[in-house]
Amino acid sequence: TKHVPFSSPFLRDAGYINGTWTAGGASKTFDVLNPATGEVLASLPDMGAAETREAIDAAYAAQPAWAARPAKERAGILRKWFDLMVAHADELAAILTAEMGKPFAEARGEILYAAAYVEWYAEEAKRIYGETIPAPSNDKRMIVIKQPVGVVGTITPWNFPAAMITRKIAPALAVGCAVVSKPAEQTPLSALALAVLAEQAGMPAGVFNVIVGEDGPAIGKELCGNEKVRKISFTGSTEVGRILMRQCADQIKKISLELGGNAPFIVFDDADLDAAVEGALASKYRNAGQTCVCANRLYVQSGVYDAFAAKLSAKVETMAVGDGFKAGVTIGPLIDEQGLAKVESHVADAVSKGARILTGGKRVEGAGTFFTPTVLTGVTREMKVAREETFGPVAPLFRFDTVEDVIAQANDTEFGLAAYFFAGDLKKVWRVAEALEYGMVGINTGLMSTETAPFGGIKQSGLGREGSRHGAEDYLEMKYLCMGNV
Ligand code: ADP
Repeated sequence: TKHVPFSSPFLRDAGYINGTWTAGGASKTFDVLNPATGEVLASLPDMGAAETREAIDAAYAAQPAWAARPAKERAGILRKWFDLMVAHADELAAILTAEMGKPFAEARGEILYAAAYVEWYAEEAKRIYGETIPAPSNDKRMIVIKQPVGVVGTITPWNFPAAMITRKIAPALAVGCAVVSKPAEQTPLSALALAVLAEQAGMPAGVFNVIVGEDGPAIGKELCGNEKVRKISFTGSTEVGRILMRQCADQIKKISLELGGNAPFIVFDDADLDAAVEGALASKYRNAGQTCVCANRLYVQSGVYDAFAAKLSAKVETMAVGDGFKAGVTIGPLIDEQGLAKVESHVADAVSKGARILTGGKRVEGAGTFFTPTVLTGVTREMKVAREETFGPVAPLFRFDTVEDVIAQANDTEFGLAAYFFAGDLKKVWRVAEALEYGMVGINTGLMSTETAPFGGIKQSGLGREGSRHGAEDYLEMKYLCMGNV
């Protein structure tokens, strides 16, 4: 691998602790690669438990003064940070595409989406209302106040290197928490760029810290085990979520989890087929299929199965795979060789059990980890694509006949994050929406994520919600005050 001279005013080659760019005591470095080329973009200090502890101490020291500021002041800093993100959206998007691979236009969209959480919680910060409760006797007064939980540790994945972070830290910072953030080792540069702008916006030293390192387990252990950290917020795999929840058990540490999904996408006979195809394209192929709300299993009713398959694959064939910086590219690389191998194995498994490749189905030879967007027909529940998240640009089409049958199949998973369905009949729309065991249901749409709505899952897809007024609650404690002898 060769080192490319990628330059950006927001590129940093150190972690950010207590308002200082530092390697801490890290003695080695790790490389951040461009998945479209395999080239090295940057080498960062490989920080671990000791640096994490240092960052936690800084956050712990800074948090009371931050919380004591009037909400309007905290809101003002967040608002400035939002303005800077928007003003520098192109530069931030370039860093994001370089380290993660998604097409530049999509990366720019993610930056604006990430910034929208900062804007939203800058506004919400001023509206953390408490409650007064009518007392059961005349000599008492009863009040509920809301207070920040304290120091928050966040651990985030590579698929949305900016947005997964702001969804957590914007509400946390807005309500008066201090944060130690651990971005994914594949995509730490976007997190550092956010810290550059937070600093410019006037975020006080120690309030927002970023630890970069390859040893996620070591950093995670310190965050979960350190008594100064009062809350963990994690987005990533269910497997790691389980580990973190166990590690938080000793101290009954609060935890929010956004974990895996296995989203069903259902097309009924009476659906607007063109809208369903557009929805499937958006939900399935965005970010090359690497989102936890991506349609993973597409159930199509018998009457429209062939027509839907034909329309979808015709559209999929027009998608351009390549380097996210190239104009017109809509499908970037998969994040790494491991991600690519999983997609290949899911397709091979399906084909070996009788599925047919309508389009795509193979890796692109040469540099970078690219896979052609794929549509599979004749898919059955015995195949891996029915059970596991593929996390790639593969649409497996299952055939179904009745509403009861498809609801049973859609709910037959330990996951419960997002589901989608396309239908016309109003009665069916209500029945299906209520029967799907998911935290979010897209009805006649393939896109539903926004800072204004609560994002989150049920079952083994997680705990807590991000975005909307509910997203602030994850970072607040309520305190009941009872005044007697009035
Ligand atoms: P993905 O499949 O998206 O890489 P992971 O759950 O493996 O999902 O990773 C999400 C985040 O969790 C990353 O920042 C990663 O470094 C971190 N991580 C991985 N394993 C652990 C662990 N045992 N403890 C804490 N964090 C971890």
